[in-house]
Amino acid sequence: MNDSKLAIFNGNKSIKEHDSDIFSWPVVTSEDETEVLKVLRRGGAISGFDITDKFENEYKNWQESKFALAHSSGTASIQAAMFGLKIGHGDEIIAPSVTYWASLLPVYSLGGTVVFSDIDEKTLCIDTNDILNKISKNTKAIVVVHYCGHPADLDEILKIAKEHNIFVLEDVSHAHGALYKNKKVGTFGDVACASLMSGKSLMAGEGGMLTTNNLEIYERAIAWGFYRKNNEKIQTEYLKDSLHLPLGGYKYRINQMCSALGRVQLRNYDKRMINIQKAMNYFWDGITNLSGIIEHRPEKKSKSTMGGWYSPHGIYNKYELGELSINTFCKALRAEGIEDCHPGVNKPLHQHSLFQSIDIYNQGKPTRIANARRDVRIKDKNLFKSNDICNKTFSIPWFKYFDKEIIDQYINAYKKVCDNYELLLEIDNDSNINNGSWGLTAL
Ligand SMILES: *Cc1c(COP(=O)(O)O)cnc(C)c1O
Repeated sequence: MNDSKLAIFNGNKSIKEHDSDIFSWPVVTSEDETEVLKVLRRGGAISGFDITDKFENEYKNWQESKFALAHSSGTASIQAAMFGLKIGHGDEIIAPSVTYWASLLPVYSLGGTVVFSDIDEKTLCIDTNDILNKISKNTKAIVVVHYCGHPADLDEILKIAKEHNIFVLEDVSHAHGALYKNKKVGTFGDVACASLMSGKSLMAGEGGMLTTNNLEIYERAIAWGFYRKNNEKIQTEYLKDSLHLPLGGYKYRINQMCSALGRVQLRNYDKRMINIQKAMNYFWDGITNLSGIIEHRPEKKSKSTMGGWYSPHGIYNKYELGELSINTFCKALRAEGIEDCHPGVNKPLHQHSLFQSIDIYNQGKPTRIANARRDVRIKDKNLFKSNDICNKTFSIPWFKYFDKEIIDQYINAYKKVCDNYELLLEIDNDSNINNGSWGLTAL
């Protein structure tokens, strides 16, 4: 009887004490420790490429691409991929405003700029209709982010890219191993990048993997930040004039302890991912019909998946709950014991001064327009869905394995809060809303 009273009003919590293992991530076992220690005990050969070569080989087989190049971070791999696509002075990339900054910010350092596209409210990925509004004769590439694991609308994006002769860079940092219509994301665009930092669903401690089927893109990325690999093996004719030094002036190789760790993590990833998928799909099946909640996952019949479900979120429809604010909704869920239920995702990047007013390189103008052939900021004015998205999304638990008893408690918490929303309206206080953050992980 008492159990139906909301915990925020001193009722019993829906979530009882349980094994916190179900949320632990990353999973590090003695297998990881052994392989990392082996590297640590090699003396000078901690540096170098031999273990990284193995990691790259295994990764490219897993990713089903021809080439893989391991970087020190996902951010570095994205900058290298942009150089691979020959993005330079005055070039524009089109990217969603709602993403982690590293998806697009490296374009500044190449002398290019960004035109923001709005997002789709269902997938939370780039809105393909808005891409068409943002294309100009300066557009070089579209950056696609499979946001919080959800595959973007790749069919449509590839069609637009082909029609307009522009490249596609896939940022798969949220969606390692996710499928789009039964095929792995990261294999659709001209080049793909994946962060491997430890908060991501596939991790190597720190690192970023660039993958492509295109030899020239691969070799340009090598030439950019890998002076040792920029050697006689390079086959692209014009790159042979600049061997032995890095064109970018960067040194981007990954730490080999991370490569060793990444190899073990990769070996174990598919089975862990399947456990996550089973748990998360069971959870969504349990709450998807509740008023106020819209699922963030592809339809089953699409044969698309959410990969390792990095940073899972739900979409909130306040109109089904008497316009209850998302902040009070989340607060009630936290009271039930869902500790990290918070409103918001990444804040829309176009709202940050770095994309409006900051002159990073002393060019006498904000970098975003100093690097452009026109004032691309005026294109920000229709980003309505991006502007509002932090008031329409909330974090949901990231279960790492299926345990019906535990997950059912969480499902019941959502049911209880949604069923009793009218009581919450009485304490709803909408002021001081500042939802979302510039980075999704706290690391
Ligand atoms: C984490 C992340 C990156 C950057 O990767 P790092 O390894 O942290 O440099 C890029 N894009 C997205 C979407 C990310 O979430």
